[in-house]
Amino acid sequence: MKSRIELAIFDLDGTLYELWAPTFGASELWKRVKMHHLDLISDFSNIHPEIVFAWLCDREKKESVPVSVSIWELTNKTRQEVFELIWWKLKPEEIILYEKIKPEFLWELKQSWMNILLLTAWPVVWADKALEYLQIKSFFDAIITAEMYLHGKWEVFDRLLREWRNPNTIVSIGDQEHSDITPAQSLGMNTCLVTGPKDIYSFFI
Ligand SMILES: [Mg+2]
Repeated sequence: MKSRIELAIFDLDGTLYELWAPTFGASELWKRVKMHHLDLISDFSNIHPEIVFAWLCDREKKESVPVSVSIWELTNKTRQEVFELIWWKLKPEEIILYEKIKPEFLWELKQSWMNILLLTAWPVVWADKALEYLQIKSFFDAIITAEMYLHGKWEVFDRLLREWRNPNTIVSIGDQEHSDITPAQSLGMNTCLVTGPKDIYSFFI
């Protein structure tokens, strides 16, 4: 185990459990999230929901405006209502089908006095269900979900670095290079790009 690491920041989907898809866009999780977005969009727009959704995703990528914020602007729904409508219907038992992180591994990290934080781009309604299903919720010192930042995970990395000061003692672990790895690396933090739990185990050996 790398003794210098004092704070491990874990992404959730595709990191603490395997998505088993060549890309995030091809995963069962994304297919269902997209389907629920299309349902919601068809309630307030006369334009084909696929077109509106593609436009909202593009806006998120280019202008850092999350899809949930765009829907919030376009409807009378709050961002929280958008999260609940999209995520409440998701069932972990239908999404988390492949390799899952071993709870005892996180228990061991905690025994070594490491701080463990979850940082996900998805809302608390999903994070809670997924962590409970994985039986690992109690190991996290903090759980940071989409409600707690606006534009991207980089906001949280900035905040954490101000608190922890030494980037060498922090590692960001995740499956998405643009959100989990690049922004952490640019601040000098350690990073670990994974395709699932097995890559996490090898990082900490
Ligand atoms: Mg992920």
